[in-house]
Amino acid sequence: MPKIEPGKLLFATHNAGKLEEMRALLEPKGFELVGAAEFDLPEPVEDGTTFVANARIKAHAAAKATGLPALSDDSGIEIDGLDKQPGVYTADWAETPNGRDFVMAMTKCNEMLVEREAPQPWTARFCCTLVLAWQDGSDEVFEGKVEGHLTWPMRGDAGHGYDPCFIPNGHDITFAQMDPAEKNKISHRADALAKFSAALL
Ligand code: IMP
Repeated sequence: MPKIEPGKLLFATHNAGKLEEMRALLEPKGFELVGAAEFDLPEPVEDGTTFVANARIKAHAAAKATGLPALSDDSGIEIDGLDKQPGVYTADWAETPNGRDFVMAMTKCNEMLVEREAPQPWTARFCCTLVLAWQDGSDEVFEGKVEGHLTWPMRGDAGHGYDPCFIPNGHDITFAQMDPAEKNKISHRADALAKFSAALL
């Protein structure tokens, strides 16, 4: 497996929350992450049915458009009481005609769990698939996760996405109540990145 040299690295995302987290994780290793918006890259259609398929779509589209190696992240939350939904459709559940509304998406999860009378604790996990696409069309895949449960009502205002309703195992506060540095030690993204670092650095 070829190694990747520290320096500028294209991170194929338009999601500001992911970019900020990945910057904090990769900066200490000598990488300067450049987001897709800075290259004016269009957002590709994510029509895969798995995290790895969508991560591949994003990384390869960015590598092809720029001629640079590109890292991408596809992630989401699997809720056991909802048969692992929303999973790969986590961002879609927040879509509205005026942009993404995560309060609406988390409310929907809570209402569905209540309606189904899903037994407590409402176990769930965040999953993250990282893909590094090389310029020759090959790639490397790294998968991470963090186990926990959903809580209601939402708590905290740090983080992004579904953070206010997720309590990781071994803690009694949500990701959104946690110091970002603490989240970055245990998150699904950190788990996948540890595998990326072991293989590629
Ligand atoms: P996608 O990878 O662009 O399909 O989007 C994944 C979605 O999962 C994001 O829009 C967030 O809503 C959610 N998500 C992924 N990682 C996190 C996280 O660390 N905290 C909260 N929500 C997350």
